[in-house]
Amino acid sequence: MLGLWLIVVLLILGRVMRAPGRVMIAATGAVWAVMLLVQLAAPDSGLGRALGGSAAGWLVLGGVVALALAYRAGLRRLRARAAPDRPEPAPDAGMSDAEIDRYSRHLVLHEIGGPGQMRLRGARVLIVGAGGLGTPVCLYLAAAGVGRITLADDDTVSLSNLQRQVIFRDDLQGEPKAYAAAEAMLRLNPHLDVTPLTRRITQDDIELIAGHDLVIDGTDSHATRSAINRACVAAGVPLVWGAIGRWEGQLTLFDPARGGPCMNCIFPEAPVHDAPCAEAGVVGALPGVIGSMMALEAVKELTGAGQGMRGRLMIHDALYSETRVIRTSADPACTVCGPSAPKRSTE
Ligand SMILES: [Zn+2]
Repeated sequence: MLGLWLIVVLLILGRVMRAPGRVMIAATGAVWAVMLLVQLAAPDSGLGRALGGSAAGWLVLGGVVALALAYRAGLRRLRARAAPDRPEPAPDAGMSDAEIDRYSRHLVLHEIGGPGQMRLRGARVLIVGAGGLGTPVCLYLAAAGVGRITLADDDTVSLSNLQRQVIFRDDLQGEPKAYAAAEAMLRLNPHLDVTPLTRRITQDDIELIAGHDLVIDGTDSHATRSAINRACVAAGVPLVWGAIGRWEGQLTLFDPARGGPCMNCIFPEAPVHDAPCAEAGVVGALPGVIGSMMALEAVKELTGAGQGMRGRLMIHDALYSETRVIRTSADPACTVCGPSAPKRSTE
């Protein structure tokens, strides 16, 4: 049994000294090989008896450990394949002095730093809807330095928007929201590439969506949201999704291509009380709260910081200041992302 104790002591020493995993595997493997050789060469010698076991016993032990290591390596490879694709920083990855100054609060964050900021600069994001949810996303992503932003909205600024859509001003009434919000983004950060689209996004916009790394849905009708979800699933692009009504907000990330459900898995039908904010009402600061959180999830998704909302749904009750997060999972029978869903093509 001395042989087994030697290996246990070696493992404990390795843990205490924080030795790298590969070094520990190599050292343990070498000790195991010596044990096996002794048992093969001189099983009845004093050393052989002191170390304990038999050649067959040491071989079985080695086989079991090798199987466990192979299983762990396979699991890691699968997880790495399932991890979200990050846009690679451009080759001319240098940042100007002005950029270093502008993004200095990001650069000092361990989870973002220089590489994360370069990913933001190289990212392409589609924001759908320049309303209560979409406009805080516009401002925070522009401020964060997301390099290319497409903003789609077919509406114009109206007086009743100004109670919560603080990106607009009183004198912009009647202006197309996509242009007004794009102008506000560029006034905040002139180094961005902003493309306003004065139209709705439909389920046929797969090609447009496939040209982006991330889509953010700030619209407020179930039919529009369903169409955006279908196009995102078909294009394999993750979707940051937020919703508000009266005093309650919701937030999640739909990304069935990399695990978790799509919107149709969770909300296959329009909610019974699916009235837009115009009818149901909404408290002014709530879209600011949920919209800012959507921007934050986008920054995390693009930089790889922290843990995203894949497979989790946050529900915020602003009236009682309560927030809870529930687990969500893909529906195998989902007609949009499930195995039976019709395959779409961008041809
Ligand atoms: Zn689904």
